[in-house]
Amino acid sequence: MALLPFNISRKKKIKVIIVGGGYAGLAALTNLLQFSPETDVTLIDPHEHHLKITHLHETFRYPLTDLLVPFADICKRFECRFIQANVDFDPDTLSSYQDKRQLIVNEEALDFDYLIIATGCNPIDTENENAKETLSLSDFIQTSGSDLLTQRLNISSSPECVISIVGGGATGIQFLFEIHQFLNRIKRKAKLQLIHSGEHVLNQFPDGFGVYAESRMHELDIAFYPNTHYREQQSGKILLTEKETKNQYERPSDLTLLFLGKKRQNILTANAFGQITVDKMPLPNIFTAGDCSYYQSLGSNAVSAQSAVRKGKLIARNILRHAGFPGLLEPYLHQNLGYIVNLGASDAVGWLVAEGNLVTGIPALAIKEIVEVQYDLLLAGIDTYLV
Ligand SMILES: Cc1cc2nc3c(=O)[nH]c(=O)nc-3n(C[C@H](O)[C@H](O)[C@H](O)COP(=O)(O)OP(=O)(O)OC[C@H]3O[C@@H](n4cnc5c(N)ncnc54)[C@H](O)[C@@H]3O)c2cc1C
Repeated sequence: MALLPFNISRKKKIKVIIVGGGYAGLAALTNLLQFSPETDVTLIDPHEHHLKITHLHETFRYPLTDLLVPFADICKRFECRFIQANVDFDPDTLSSYQDKRQLIVNEEALDFDYLIIATGCNPIDTENENAKETLSLSDFIQTSGSDLLTQRLNISSSPECVISIVGGGATGIQFLFEIHQFLNRIKRKAKLQLIHSGEHVLNQFPDGFGVYAESRMHELDIAFYPNTHYREQQSGKILLTEKETKNQYERPSDLTLLFLGKKRQNILTANAFGQITVDKMPLPNIFTAGDCSYYQSLGSNAVSAQSAVRKGKLIARNILRHAGFPGLLEPYLHQNLGYIVNLGASDAVGWLVAEGNLVTGIPALAIKEIVEVQYDLLLAGIDTYLV
């Protein structure tokens, strides 16, 4: 919510460069142009498409192409420029960008009044020691889940394949249930087993999440190995270590899918207004948002699309305030309003408004659908976010 007014002269056309076209970068882009259509925006991303990654597990039901929105189309719709490139930065280069207000990209000098860094954070990938028998999030970003799994199952000679999923966080659980339904749909006999380092799945959420998801896993005959560390997938087996006893053992496994979370490396610290700080001093013209950012404020720094969108929207407003009069900026105070984890196409578990307010089944699915539609509308230029 825009708590403070902004007043930018219509004659003043500010130049903004956005590095990273994920949830945070695009929320900033749409809001900048919504409130100040004259703003000259350049979007930079190494990929050709924006990926609606919050749907990635659904690529066992829909093609991956359904989740890709070409940056060229977004930039045509919002009348801004797109450059396909990778931008490298560290605290020293950021300070020099602040001084020069210039970025060199593909050998072109780009002047800016404001720079936004919204590059997200990468998934944790192990060195793929046995690439044929392991898959990770990066693979699903390239190829639809249904195609990938079918290819791997076709290679396997086992009459009943054993598939191990490592990681009982939101991503691992969402993939687990989708895969279970996919195997049923294609009538392929396979055993699923979940390996998780914690006592219960979904342990970053309120207790009810784990209890609900584990009871559904039990009903579906999915084996669960809690308090267990993954070591390696070898031909036909997975090597595991019990967390407490350090006891090493192996289980049959033909394929392992690794969902180990995200690397919280190279995180950019920002003040409560979203301006990057270097040596505790804010860079007034360089803002950050999304998974790559940590704001020193009361708001949520969760690694989520929800926080990414709220931070992106906030910095767009703060850039316009900073460029205008009287230049007072709004602090980031957003708290998550809920979180829904899909358990296949027809079930979900989540919380809404307060963490104790657990929702499951159709109501949870309906909430998730509303959130996704809201984001699609934002990409179409219609901002329906009230908070
Ligand atoms: C399967 C899955 C399901 C999820 N479900 C949910 C959910 O239901 N709800 C929720 O709130 N969150 C969910 N999340 C988390 C959510 O997707 C992330 O928190 C969100 O994408 C973060 O947005 P972001 O803009 O910070 O980063 P990203 O969306 O990762 O975007 C970063 C962008 O920056 C670009 N980039 C990277 N490096 C550079 C560089 N050097 N130069 C230029 N550009 C660069 C990338 O190409 C990318 O386009 C889910 C995540 C996954 C994987």
